[in-house]
Amino acid sequence: MTSPYPWQTSQWKQFQQRRLKGAVPHALLLHGPEGIGKEDFAHLAARALLCEQPDAEGLACGQCKSCQLINAENHPDFIPVLPEEIGKAIKIDQIRNLIQVMTLSPHFGGYRIVLISPAAQMNLAASNSLLKTLEEPQDNTVIFLVTSQISRLSATIRSRCQLLRFARPDSASALNWLGSELGDSAQAEQLLMAANGAPLLARQMAGDETIRFRQQVLQDLTAISAGKKQAMTVAAEWLKQAHGKTLQWVYHWVCDMIRIKCGDESFVINQDIARQLQSFAQTVDLNRLYHFLDQLSDAIRLRQTSANELLLLEGLLLNWTYLKTDRKQERA
Ligand SMILES: [Zn+2]
Repeated sequence: MTSPYPWQTSQWKQFQQRRLKGAVPHALLLHGPEGIGKEDFAHLAARALLCEQPDAEGLACGQCKSCQLINAENHPDFIPVLPEEIGKAIKIDQIRNLIQVMTLSPHFGGYRIVLISPAAQMNLAASNSLLKTLEEPQDNTVIFLVTSQISRLSATIRSRCQLLRFARPDSASALNWLGSELGDSAQAEQLLMAANGAPLLARQMAGDETIRFRQQVLQDLTAISAGKKQAMTVAAEWLKQAHGKTLQWVYHWVCDMIRIKCGDESFVINQDIARQLQSFAQTVDLNRLYHFLDQLSDAIRLRQTSANELLLLEGLLLNWTYLKTDRKQERA
């Protein structure tokens, strides 16, 4: 990506104005829903700050030494801090290494850019350690923090960053962009629904088996409810897929089922499977759904720690069987 997505132009202008005035904040927190290109935006901004001759729109030239190094993922003044494994925590050692590097001057005498993403995956120790750095900003160092879960960042971290908010694009511009990316507007529409309107997430789904697996997850839940499949078997199958989105899908489906039960059917997000969600909703108890939503939310959080993922999935799927109104018992 060499320029901001169509739905990011106002944020880009805002950032450019600050860059031209030499007033880029020391720490910038980019927040908004997942899958809409916040991290790409941070990369573009980092390139622009490091580039020797950005163009009139403030975009990196792509030619200078700095641009070449960053393209080769080898720029000594661009420091990404990412989880070592997808979905896992950013650890204190990584932040300690960062602080160590920051004791030295930038190699090229210009900016030094740090990108921490997803910022909410810093564990508590890492987050506390970063706080000291945020409290004592260094000249020419810009720290980009990217998150789709701003409430999981401590209030002290948030208060030391300038916030830059990104909203989910309206469906027309998301469809327009995705349709031209995929060259298929009907597929784009289906994928956008599956991705809750997040165009980058939708494009990623198009390239892999995600959409098929999402259908499988729905079928498995139906089969468990009907007593045709065991929760334990399904948990083991889902674990093999190692798909980071599974619990988030179920979370959004449960939100939709709650909307249906409350009579807000027009607000259902997953319209492509609205019929299945409706028939589920008819058989389950609303209070138990709310309770299950809390359990899902805990499981999504715990999955990012060293918790045993198989046990988490088994527990959730067992609880799924107890959602039905005709079930007397409920597991805690
Ligand atoms: Zn350049």
